Amino acid sequence: MPSVTFSSLGLTETILRALRAKGYAAPTPIQQHAIPRLLAGEDLLGIAQTGTGKTAAFALPVLQSLAAARERAKPHAPRALVLAPTRELAVQIHDDFRDYGAGLRLRQTVILGGVAQGPQVAALAKRIDIVVATPGRLLDLFEQGHVRLDHISFFVLDEADRMLDMGFIHDVKRIIRELPRRRRSLLFSATMPPEVASLAQEILHRPKRVEVTPAATTVDTVQQLVYFVKAADKPKLLRELLRDTTLSRVLVFARTKHRANRVADHVSKLGVATDAIHGNKSQSARQRALERFRAGRSRVLVATDIAARGLDVDGISHVINFELPHEPESYVHRIGRTARAGASGSALSFCDPSETSQLRGIERLTGIALQVVQGQPFHAAAAVDEPPGRRPHGRSTKPAGIDRSGGRVRSGVPHRRRRRVRRGAPALQEG
Ligand code: AMP
Repeated sequence: MPSVTFSSLGLTETILRALRAKGYAAPTPIQQHAIPRLLAGEDLLGIAQTGTGKTAAFALPVLQSLAAARERAKPHAPRALVLAPTRELAVQIHDDFRDYGAGLRLRQTVILGGVAQGPQVAALAKRIDIVVATPGRLLDLFEQGHVRLDHISFFVLDEADRMLDMGFIHDVKRIIRELPRRRRSLLFSATMPPEVASLAQEILHRPKRVEVTPAATTVDTVQQLVYFVKAADKPKLLRELLRDTTLSRVLVFARTKHRANRVADHVSKLGVATDAIHGNKSQSARQRALERFRAGRSRVLVATDIAARGLDVDGISHVINFELPHEPESYVHRIGRTARAGASGSALSFCDPSETSQLRGIERLTGIALQVVQGQPFHAAAAVDEPPGRRPHGRSTKPAGIDRSGGRVRSGVPHRRRRRVRRGAPALQEG
């Protein structure tokens, strides 16, 4: 079967050139399905998470259609609107639009909270074609009369499920009420809770539905390991893991802003260059932290789920779940930050006894049992023969157990995966 190329999707030479400059060899599955349909004028419901190439899936046809329409935007009245739940994601989408539309004469801007509104007001007064925005600030500026929404011909709602989680859904609905009825609409969401499904029904007109399942896309390339460890021992475990230099670019997830700060402080004290990003940090501090991490000037970035949404940094070698997330879907989002674009990566999860039910939720969602590196499941420690010599971490007094996939484990690592685990994931150093 001939492989699908970007040019076979109906994209113009100007856009193909921009894609070559980005080094994209071929369209991802969501791009293959979404681009021709959007170019044909259909609405789209995309069930996909960050890491699947979904931004280009909507940005390329939006850019091409706007350029083909040969209209000029009026001051204060953009032609396309993309709503994203977080500032980081909005900036990233804006950057992508700029790169993909490099050869097109379209103007764009990004509107987000946490920074002064003056420059945004000034930008909107110009003839802007594409606005990428977080909902709160856009609504503020709309209510102050700095932007009109009645010329929008393309509306993209990205990460709709996260909008809901973050309490933005009322702002989003309020914005939608201001849009013209005749427009093309696209909704992207990693999951489809009932509220998102009903929103999709409200705003989309006979949409095409395109689904890329996250579990299947991540499981194959990310080595997923679990360390059973008490909460009080997690800092020590992190310290020992960081001795291994193969953990070269490490994204650590903590559940709260406060915990993220504490973990970052702990890592800094080890002499490891680190930063934290979360909602209490100013937008400029978050951008600076991201740039340092991207440039390799910091080795560890500690983040909360919300701050890390849409975070796009190449070459993240390891994702560490210092704490397991409450929602299993967040686990899939977290580990999707590593092993991008075909590379491999590791996700190491620290599981305290109080987090056993979260672990179960993750395994149920992804359909796989995480490989045990250290300790044993707190709820099912079945004793089998004591392995000679080495014990995990030199601390566990329990014998090896049985993993939940039924394989016998030794030193906490299942037989059939032991070599791979040793190579890819740092085993703890004794002593
Ligand atoms: P996204 O899901 O939009 O966040 O994209 C994830 C990453 O994949 C980004 O770094 C994109 O630049 C990259 N990407 C998007 N499309 C392609 C493609 N067709 N080939 C290679 N990389 C891509």
